[in-house]
Amino acid sequence: RFQVVQQGPPIEVFQLNRLYMEDPHPSKINLSIGAYRDENGKPWVLPVVRKMEKQMANDETLLHEYLPVLGMEQFSAASTAMLLGEDSPAIASGRAFGVQTLSGTGSLRVGAELLNKHLKYTNFYYSVPTWDNHHLVFVNSGFTNPRTYRYWNAKQRGIDFEGLIEDLRSAPENSVVLLHACAHNPTGIDPTQEQWEKIADVMEERKLFPFFDSAYQGFASGDLDQDAWAVRYFVKRGFELVCAQSYAKNFGLYNERVGNLAIVVSDASVVPAMKSQLTWIVRGMYSNPPAHGARVVTNVLANKQLFDEWREHIKAMSSRVIEMREALRAELIKLGTPGNWDHIVKQIGLFSYTGLTQRQTEHLIQEYHIYLLKSGRINVCGLNPNNVQYMARAMHDAVTK
Ligand code: PMP
Repeated sequence: RFQVVQQGPPIEVFQLNRLYMEDPHPSKINLSIGAYRDENGKPWVLPVVRKMEKQMANDETLLHEYLPVLGMEQFSAASTAMLLGEDSPAIASGRAFGVQTLSGTGSLRVGAELLNKHLKYTNFYYSVPTWDNHHLVFVNSGFTNPRTYRYWNAKQRGIDFEGLIEDLRSAPENSVVLLHACAHNPTGIDPTQEQWEKIADVMEERKLFPFFDSAYQGFASGDLDQDAWAVRYFVKRGFELVCAQSYAKNFGLYNERVGNLAIVVSDASVVPAMKSQLTWIVRGMYSNPPAHGARVVTNVLANKQLFDEWREHIKAMSSRVIEMREALRAELIKLGTPGNWDHIVKQIGLFSYTGLTQRQTEHLIQEYHIYLLKSGRINVCGLNPNNVQYMARAMHDAVTK
């Protein structure tokens, strides 16, 4: 019976991660998967998370009962406020709400199903390049017309803003446009505020629907409010929108699957019907979300002192990434590596789109045991003071070969 099942292609990022784990070479470096690593190359459990978990372990009032289908209300309210701002008029007027979901991916999926099943949207636009799961999640949610908008100008190693605007201008009405709220994955280049304003103009004019993906709030600038600027701006402009929020990166809760789907509508009276339909979407998909990670996040967001500690952790992570960008660029300049490496420090968030070609990335993997995506994307925090020189020498060798 199951002979009909054909081998599928591997998922590049998980395959590279496995190859890295199995590689015995002492100088190997993992720049593939988007997870934070400290200055010793080790995963980092945020101290405030450890503290909460210890407290929770001793709290016998915490049970293992089911959560409601749409999750913990306190969690989704706190998450929506973190995204839109505590003083958001949309929240105050009951036009914004959240649904607890299975991390960012689950939010994208639930949001996409809502738009496809209930608004009958079938076109969605994503940037070239984008996180490689966007296409699959939307297609699996029922979007039959995946389309792309230009984003990366390889020559200038920056945003192809004219291409982006041209593509959005020619998009059919009611297309969903997937926008990275901050720290665009994989390029690390975000539109400027003026560029966001133009994007909003075109989307308003063409009646396009904004679907934000916020997987890195706090990681781009180290500041939660600044990283939510684009989403808040669209809300202020009067757009109805949805936004997938993930706590995988900014809380280091990769595996707990903590996310929120934030939704802003223009008429609060539609909210009860939307919640009831979202309930049925989730019910048929995974019935209800897990509590552990959401409890950790809610407790931290609700307590001023813990919240401040968490903000310090985010700053520490984002500053370390910035330091490593500078260190890598400095090493390349020291070596006289041909080319301009300014883009490495101009890009933000976890990733750098190095501009290395596929041949060069293969050279790094095969000759140096440095694992990175074939697009040339590196997770900058895989670098640390002990390996950044090795990385620069490897890049120099690959570029001059
Ligand atoms: N969107 C983007 C752009 C991402 O980079 C990621 C994580 N790699 C996600 C969404 C979702 O991640 P998760 O489901 O782990 O929250």
